[in-house]
Amino acid sequence: MSTIYGVKFKRVDKEIKQIKEKIQRIIDNKRLSHTLSVEKTAVELAKLYGADEKKVRIAALLHDCAKNLPQKELLKIARKEKIKIDKYFENNAHLLHGPIGALIAKRNFKIKDKEILEAIKNHTTGRPNMSLIEEIIYLADHIEPNRNYKHVKAIRSTAKKNIHKTIALVSTKMLEYLLRKKREIYPSSIETRNYYLRKSGLMEAKKDKH
Ligand code: FE
Ligand code: FE
Repeated sequence: MSTIYGVKFKRVDKEIKQIKEKIQRIIDNKRLSHTLSVEKTAVELAKLYGADEKKVRIAALLHDCAKNLPQKELLKIARKEKIKIDKYFENNAHLLHGPIGALIAKRNFKIKDKEILEAIKNHTTGRPNMSLIEEIIYLADHIEPNRNYKHVKAIRSTAKKNIHKTIALVSTKMLEYLLRKKREIYPSSIETRNYYLRKSGLMEAKKDKH
């Protein structure tokens, strides 16, 4: 914040400003509102956990840049770019918006930073042992203020205290949702949940009796 004749000016980062202007032109309004909320939540988490705020903001702004592409288009790009299309991607091409989003970020937004690109790539399912920036984007995507599911408030307050525990909770919720909806579960989602369950010490020590 700088002041000229008593008028306060917010310091605006040029790169962030340019990304914001450009992203508005490629995603719809609903997605934009989600994206800006993810940015805000991600910055809060970055402050709490000591992550690079600028990197986190860029990753948040671009995480869903491929979300408005039709499934057919996602598959077409994946084939052209030789992105490995497994049977899960084939059945649910929306899952490709992460990897293809990373590609768009690299090509169209000229993002070179590996951590940012990985965070965009992996934000949907997460993966075991994510970097702090990946963890923040994964989490912010699931707990931003527009998200509404059972216990989300409690999960948001846990996010302020323990990031790994919150990832374990959120990834468990996601699996429950997919089971309820009788949808396919991507193996990475299970691996993410197991890894963070163990890492945060949430795993039950005793075996349940059946
Ligand atoms: Fe997404
Ligand atoms: Fe998202």
